[in-house]
Amino acid sequence: MGILDNAKEIANSVHEIKNLELYARVLNLHSDIIQLVEDNSRLRAENGELNKKLQLRKKMAFKEPFYFQDGDETPYCPSCWETQSFAIHVVFVFNREDATRWDCPSCKTTYMDKKDRRVIRPHKNVPPSTSWMR
Ligand SMILES: [Zn+2]
Repeated sequence: MGILDNAKEIANSVHEIKNLELYARVLNLHSDIIQLVEDNSRLRAENGELNKKLQLRKKMAFKEPFYFQDGDETPYCPSCWETQSFAIHVVFVFNREDATRWDCPSCKTTYMDKKDRRVIRPHKNVPPSTSWMR
C-alpha cells in the first residue's frame, strides 16, 4: 500500500471514532504528505535531468576549436555547448588549403579553422635615424 492510501485509510479510521480535533490533524498530515510526494517527484525529475547533463559533460572533450565525444569524429559547436550546454554537431562546409569551414545549424556561428596558426605581427618601418644602433 502506498503512503497516500495508507494516510487516507488512517483519516477514515479517525473519522469513524468521531474525534474532530484528531481528524483535522490527520487531514492536515494527509495534505502535507501529498505535498511531499509531489516535491519528491519533481526533485527526482530534476535530478534525472542533472545526471543526464553531468554524463554528457563528462563525455565532451575540448580540442581547439571544437568539442568532441569519444567515437564521434564530427565536432560539436563550442558556442552552443559553453553557453547553453547543448551538444550540437557543426556541419562541414569546405576544406581549403588555408582553412576548414564548419557552420552551426543552431546558433548559426561560422567557424573558419585556419591551418596556419603562426602569429603574424604587423610590419613596422623604423627609420634608420631613430635606431639606437648606428
Ligand atoms: Zn552553435
